[in-house]
Amino acid sequence: MTENSTRAIGVAILGMGNVGTEVVRILTDNAADLTARVGAPMEIRGVAVRDLGKPRGIDPALLTDKPEDLVAREDVDIVVELMGGIDPPRMLIREALQSGKSVVTANKALLADYTGELATAAATAKVDLYFEAAVAGAIPVIRPLMQSLAGDTVTKVAGIVNGTTNFILSAMDADGSDYNETLAEAGRLGYAEADPTADVEGYDAAAKAAILASIAFHSRVTALNVYREGISNITAHDLASAKALDCTVKLLSICERIVAEDGTQRISARVYPALVPLEHPLAAVNGAFNAVVVEAENAGRLMFYGQGAGGAPTASAVLGDLVMAARNKVHGGRGPLESTYASLPIAPMGDVRTRYYVSMRVADKPGVLSTVAGEFSSRNISISTVRQEGAGEDARLVVVTHRAPDAALSETVAALEKMDSVLSVSSVLRLEGTNE
Ligand code: NAP
Repeated sequence: MTENSTRAIGVAILGMGNVGTEVVRILTDNAADLTARVGAPMEIRGVAVRDLGKPRGIDPALLTDKPEDLVAREDVDIVVELMGGIDPPRMLIREALQSGKSVVTANKALLADYTGELATAAATAKVDLYFEAAVAGAIPVIRPLMQSLAGDTVTKVAGIVNGTTNFILSAMDADGSDYNETLAEAGRLGYAEADPTADVEGYDAAAKAAILASIAFHSRVTALNVYREGISNITAHDLASAKALDCTVKLLSICERIVAEDGTQRISARVYPALVPLEHPLAAVNGAFNAVVVEAENAGRLMFYGQGAGGAPTASAVLGDLVMAARNKVHGGRGPLESTYASLPIAPMGDVRTRYYVSMRVADKPGVLSTVAGEFSSRNISISTVRQEGAGEDARLVVVTHRAPDAALSETVAALEKMDSVLSVSSVLRLEGTNE
């Protein structure tokens, strides 16, 4: 036991919104158990908010609108950042780490771009920087990747890590409804924000992919390295076509280790809506739930499933980190920090081998199928299935390919769009979760 073990651990909480409120509640309600687990009581020294006038249900003396003063207090050992956004959290976390305080944060937007800077500050000051809640809310995925799988080689991480988009796609799949109407319903039910861009355009999922890829592959990956497409172009027809192929559509965050024939390795980190076969475990993840499938050379396939957002579920992950950081303050030592020793380069999306589903409206006349097929074969892309739907003005071809470089596939789609016999390419989606 260190000299710290007899005194309380001072905790500063920055932000008392959805997550912060639940963190304060759990810290208060479970104080006795948490003290036993940590080996010393954790005491809230203060809670920083923007609006001091809002009723919070806690001792008003704890509240402050000056987070920088709270962070600087001598009696604070751990700072829990639950404000969101890049600034001021970036500066506050850096200050905290530099002054020897451990930090727990759920801030994926910040971590996706600044983990390097913050981890360096934590390493220099020999303190903890924990962020389990930043990816997939309550679901333990950072710690399993960082610690449980530290002796294995992770080959792929693929997940549904955004509840809003999964809610929308699940609802469209269930009742055939259209995207805009389902987005409006998600807003009414509180599953989508007033400005849903970060969710529906895949930015949130890309930030999480950057964090997951960095940890899984011991390399530095930022949100800018993540290829990203959102779900705002997904139509009821796409969901119906997916169903006809025994698939559904999910917004996936995929982090993959790509090994070339000569053994060189690169990372692919990408986010897009993809067809997923119904027998794949991610196809059964519906509503606002999240799930992450990890594949590792020796462990095989592992799946983590649960509530990816919400005040209490996210607070559970924050408390897990807080207890770890507090134990380290009491007993000495610190948890593992990010490791980037592998420094693998990022593969451009064009080099990634994917499968495509292409749905197009075509002229209903002989020879169309063979000209369309010719565009694929001229780029060495082999077709897995072709389905003809409708007739006359509604004639459609739905082509599903085998795996090929993404650049060749998108070049083919561009060529199809220029063909006279192809009236329009109505939908292009990737197909994931198959072994072909
Ligand atoms: P939130 O409800 O918007 O709460 C933010 C809190 O921070 C509010 O209490 C706000 O004060 C305070 N705040 C903001 N800027 C401040 C400033 N400059 N000075 C002092 N206080 C400030 O956010 P949240 O949903 O709890 O999310 C918090 C963090 O957790 C974010 O990084 C988010 O990405 C992450 N996260 C959230 C979830 C989730 O389900 N909500 C899930 C995973 C991760 P006022 O109350 O006075 O406005």
